[in-house]
Order: sequence, then C-alpha cells, then structure tokens
Amino acid sequence: MKKGLLFVVSGPSGTGKGTVMKHLLETGEYFYSVSATTRAPRGEDKEGVTYYFVTRAQFEEKIAQGEMLEYAEYSGNYYGTPKFAVEKALAEGKNVILEIETKGALQVRKIMPEAVLIFILPPDIETLRARLTGRGTESAEVIETRMAQVQREVALLCEYDYAIVNENGKSEEAAKAIMGIAAAEKLRASRNAELKEKFL
Ligand code: ADP
Ligand code: 5GP
Repeated sequence: MKKGLLFVVSGPSGTGKGTVMKHLLETGEYFYSVSATTRAPRGEDKEGVTYYFVTRAQFEEKIAQGEMLEYAEYSGNYYGTPKFAVEKALAEGKNVILEIETKGALQVRKIMPEAVLIFILPPDIETLRARLTGRGTESAEVIETRMAQVQREVALLCEYDYAIVNENGKSEEAAKAIMGIAAAEKLRASRNAELKEKFL
C-alpha cells in the first residue's frame, strides 16, 4: 500500500490552527497526531484527545527511549509528537496532520523531507492578539509570552511550503485551502513515479 502524506501545520498561537483543524477532521480524511505536553490542561482540553498530559520526568523518559518523532520547548513547556502512531498511520496510507510549533516542524523537515509544511498566519498582529485574548484560555502573562514569539515564528515562513492567511470569519476557507494543497500534493509527479512503469 502507498504511504500516506504527512502535513505539518504551524502558526502563531491564536492564529486559528485548532479551529482550522476541526474543519479538516470533520471530513474524516485526516489522522490527527495527538501530541504529548507538560503544560496544564485548559479550556476544552481532553486527555488523549487534544493532548497526552505528562510530567516533565515522563516526557524526558520518552525522549530518552527514542519515542518522540520531534519535540521542542515552547513557553516553558515540552511539546512532542509520539513516533509510533504517526508511523503506523502513514504505513496504513492515511494522511497525517501534525499541528506543531516551528522548531519541531523544522526537525520533521530534516527527518522526513517529503513532509508538506503549511504555515497559517493571522491577517495582522492586532487581530492575533484579539483572537488570543478573546479565546480566554490564557492569563495575561501567558498571552504576552506567546505574543513575544510571533516575530521569531513568522520569520521562518519561507522554510514552509505553503502560507495561508486565516482571514476573519473564514476559517473554513483556510481548511479548504489545506484540502486543495493535499489534493495537489497527492498528484506530485515524484510521489507517483510508479506510473512510469507500464510505459518503460
Ligand atoms: P490556535 O490553535 O492557532 O492557537 P485557535 O484555533 O484556538 O488558535 O483560535 C484562537 C481564537 O480565534 C479562538 O477563539 C477561535 O474561535 C478564533 N478564530 C479562529 N479562526 C478564526 C477566524 N478565521 N476568524 C475569527 N476568529 C477566529
Ligand atoms: P498550545 O499550548 O496552545 O496547545 O500549543 C502551544 C504551541 O505548541 C502551538 O504552537 C502548538 O502548535 C505547539 N505544539 C503542539 N503540539 C506540539 C508537538 O507535538 N510538538 C511541537 N514541536 N509543538 C507542538
């Protein structure tokens, strides 16, 4: 069976990644990789659904055992992608989505150069702050540490393959743009080299 495609989605906190993911997952065509994190659960978080919540010691043990495909520290917490579920889903031909920050995304690019990297931007910085504040899940202090990372993150835009602006009220359009990317990437000639065979 042909391996599935790996999509890596990044963007500043509050840009709307989670919202766009929800639309994509409703199609049933994507396998969402549940990350491990040491941050505390918030808002609508659910163990095993949004994240696996672990202690720092547990996370460091997973790193030591080679269980992480990638990991990074972000705003004082570890976040990482468990390797096993991703490799299994790809082997089963599923399209896998990682919603991860930029350092992790660039690690994935190195290990799996065939991955498709997508960056979701907010329309502008004021809108980003308004979304992050409006979500109401972080303290003012945490919001500031997240806003302080935006320039560093956006500076890496051109390391990604695709850039999508999540315009106000248009998160479904952003999800449709990802579906369009997925459709095109599936047809990429280098992913379809077997089509040559019957002609050679
Ligand atoms: P992220 O996962 O990137 O941190 P979220 O998906 O949690 O961001 O979105 C942050 C906030 O912005 C949420 O309150 C969400 O409802 C809102 N939001 C997301 N996309 C849009 C959009 N296109 N227009 C307006 N508000 C949005
Ligand atoms: P949040 O605390 O808002 O859920 O996530 C904070 C940041 O961590 C976001 O940019 C999110 O994309 C990123 N993140 C979530 N899971 C992972 C992961 O497994 N690995 C990495 N590197 N980043 C992650």
